[in-house]
Amino acid sequence: MTEYTVKAYKDHLMNEELVGVECKSCGHLMLPPRPLCNKCGSTDLEWRRYNGGGVVAAKTVIAVPLTRFQDRCPYGVVVVTLDEGVSVSGYLLDEDVDVGSRVEAAYMKEEDDVVLAFKAA
Ligand SMILES: [Zn+2]
Repeated sequence: MTEYTVKAYKDHLMNEELVGVECKSCGHLMLPPRPLCNKCGSTDLEWRRYNGGGVVAAKTVIAVPLTRFQDRCPYGVVVVTLDEGVSVSGYLLDEDVDVGSRVEAAYMKEEDDVVLAFKAA
């Protein structure tokens, strides 16, 4: 049985695949994945792959970063509404991206960790 965990999600990100889960009861999409639907409570879920494209819904610039991202400072964080309709936040790799811009998923890999990011499409 597949477990819908952050670890499984990160394993997919390492392979440059953006996946979440879809509730088979109500169709609700979740990203990152959760073990149960946060809309109807069902545990009848399945993996759902996203194409990684979307539109920036919100943008913030972080001036005081996490230690491991200090050399990227300042950097942006965006909330992206994916083409599939679900919103997800990630780091922004292109400064000229703004609200309303089309972006695509990128994958920031650091040693054995990976973080979702977005760049101009
Ligand atoms: Zn549901």
